[in-house]
Amino acid sequence: ATPTALMVSVGRGAQLGILIKGPEVLESSKGIDTVVLDKTGTVTTGELTLTEVLPLAEFSADEVLRLAAAVEAGSEHPIAAAVVAKADAHPKADGFAALPGLGAKATVDGHAVLVGRARMLAEHDVPVETATEAITKAESAGATVVAVARDREVIGLLVLADEVKPSAKAAVAELHRLGLRTMLLTGDNEITARAVADEVGITDVRAGVLPADKAGVIAELREGGHRVAMAGDGINDAPALATADVGLAVGSGTDIALRSADIILVREDLRVVPDAIMLAHRSLRTIQ
Ligand code: ADP
Ligand code: MG
Repeated sequence: ATPTALMVSVGRGAQLGILIKGPEVLESSKGIDTVVLDKTGTVTTGELTLTEVLPLAEFSADEVLRLAAAVEAGSEHPIAAAVVAKADAHPKADGFAALPGLGAKATVDGHAVLVGRARMLAEHDVPVETATEAITKAESAGATVVAVARDREVIGLLVLADEVKPSAKAAVAELHRLGLRTMLLTGDNEITARAVADEVGITDVRAGVLPADKAGVIAELREGGHRVAMAGDGINDAPALATADVGLAVGSGTDIALRSADIILVREDLRVVPDAIMLAHRSLRTIQ
């Protein structure tokens, strides 16, 4: 491999908004057959909107939102930002704790408040059966549903919508045209993940994957003989980006994702993912 030819491709990438960390990255892209895409912030815009508050039991929608916002004020998750943005005002919470990939908890007005996946609430001894039907219904429409509990009682559900990037469908079609297999990887639930995958044409889905397990999914694919490119943006994606043969961070991503990646994609347009893979393949062909 002539280093000069590779450096030319690195320079060409920079012009296209594809920042390749070094010429060796192009060599590791050889034989990539699987592209794993994170859902939130990569395939979708990651700009969630709280579309609905569904109160349960005798609670009002305002009370559910007020308590949830108090907890979420301490969180950096995109869900938290959407919840806080919708609440007019909220009390100050004590003892905030983030539960990565699950939700968050804190004490508000002397009450233990949990916000997150129903499974996480159940693990904290909150009975969630009464909410199951409403959760499934909203998830089937592609929404992300978060449950709110106060002192071991589910008091309501928050429904959040996240739009797929306008470029996502074309990007996936291009990856398939290049003969690559696509997989959606997310901490979100199976029903929501399926709805998003279907909308953009991604064939395989791995949902409900905890942040700590995302890298394991990549390692498993590699052990199965695949060469894997992973595209992601979040803190949660950093170990997976590092584990992949080629890690691609979408430019608006968190610092740690940018640091863990081999290639940084500066353009918002998701078609930059197939563009980067094509650029790498072309540069290898040139030097053979
Ligand atoms: P993704 O893989 O889509 O980026 P995460 O792994 O960050 O998602 O989170 C997975 C799920 O955990 C979310 O869909 C949500 O149900 C729950 N969750 C995580 N953090 C929070 C939070 N701060 N508030 C509410 N729910 C949360
Ligand atoms: Mg993400």
